[in-house]
Amino acid sequence: MIAGIHRPAVVKVNLGAIRQNIENEIKNLQPEQKLFAVVKANGYGHGAVPVAKTALKAGASGFCVAILDEALELRRADIVKPILVLGVVSPEYAPIAAANDISLTVPSLEWLKKAEKELENTDLQLKIHLGIDSGMGRIGFYEDEEFTEANDFLKDNPHFFVEGMFCHFASADSAVDTYFQKQVAKFNHMKSLLKIKPKWIHCDNTAASIFGKDIPSDIVRYGIGIYGLNPSSNPSSPDLKSNVELKPALSFVSELTEVKTIHQGDGVGYGSTFVADEDTIIGTVPVGYADGWIRHFQGFKVKVGDSYCPIVGRICMDQFMVKMPKKMPVGTKVVLISDKPEDPNNIKAAADYVDTIHYEVACLLSDRLPRVYY
Ligand code: PLP
Repeated sequence: MIAGIHRPAVVKVNLGAIRQNIENEIKNLQPEQKLFAVVKANGYGHGAVPVAKTALKAGASGFCVAILDEALELRRADIVKPILVLGVVSPEYAPIAAANDISLTVPSLEWLKKAEKELENTDLQLKIHLGIDSGMGRIGFYEDEEFTEANDFLKDNPHFFVEGMFCHFASADSAVDTYFQKQVAKFNHMKSLLKIKPKWIHCDNTAASIFGKDIPSDIVRYGIGIYGLNPSSNPSSPDLKSNVELKPALSFVSELTEVKTIHQGDGVGYGSTFVADEDTIIGTVPVGYADGWIRHFQGFKVKVGDSYCPIVGRICMDQFMVKMPKKMPVGTKVVLISDKPEDPNNIKAAADYVDTIHYEVACLLSDRLPRVYY
């Protein structure tokens, strides 16, 4: 998808805020703990390479991504620090990962055996992290027997270097600790089965780290915190307090491309879900669901000039309309998402409005929107 550089619609990313967020978290770490910046999904929509380069300046020791291509993108950008792919990469790509010094997650013994076949006739050694399913129900070793067998398989195996072992928490952002503790116990049990010593054993994400869960973790896989957002979007745990100050980095801005007064009885948008009951000033904004600004935002108030105006009518693929309290000129600034937590159109409020989490709102912002860094 091509970025629209001739259209007034951009995602602005404050790299100073990103740097500050990482520096704040590094101060919060135990002395021997390392921060790996999670820049998967294009840096949660913020732009993987600029975020990664900023993270390096702030002191990040490595990176986590979701898929092999994201890791290769970082390597192409001359990033040489460790990179871990958190998702399952098909074993056939093990040689590509090894050749680019990219660490892969091992989900099963079967995966290891297949990857070994791929590496057999090469002189490559693959760095691996043993994924443990401690209760996320997603990927990783789950049964003792298989994990023990995998340990035996890896002992003195020249094709692999066991760089890590990790699990992922399902509910570190919850004030109710029961399930979290169950996951910790399972992870500790799996650790006790180890016959090889991984370099790093890790489980912390942003929530586990900033809410002071105090679980031993050589690496903190710091994701949402980089972007200045509080992971606790869980309404049952509003009282979890972050140890770290978070400064949102992303805002989403556009401009009015048309302003007109429509008359009583005339509708707005597909299906005419809004019909004017009197003369009504309507502004048009050149952003739509193809930009990730989904139709559920109908009714959400964006800031037009100095007024918060509701989106009226259905959001189109490339445009939406707002109802304005007064005439404002074409070119008036429209803030769809504000980076100020106190503003009613902050990203958390936007996510709440469409019944999702801010992670999703940021990730959905499509490549058609240029990212502008400052
Ligand atoms: N570790 C794993 C395995 C993940 O999947 C994620 C994000 O989804 C993270 C770490 C980072 O989580 P957060 O953004 O909540 O810090």
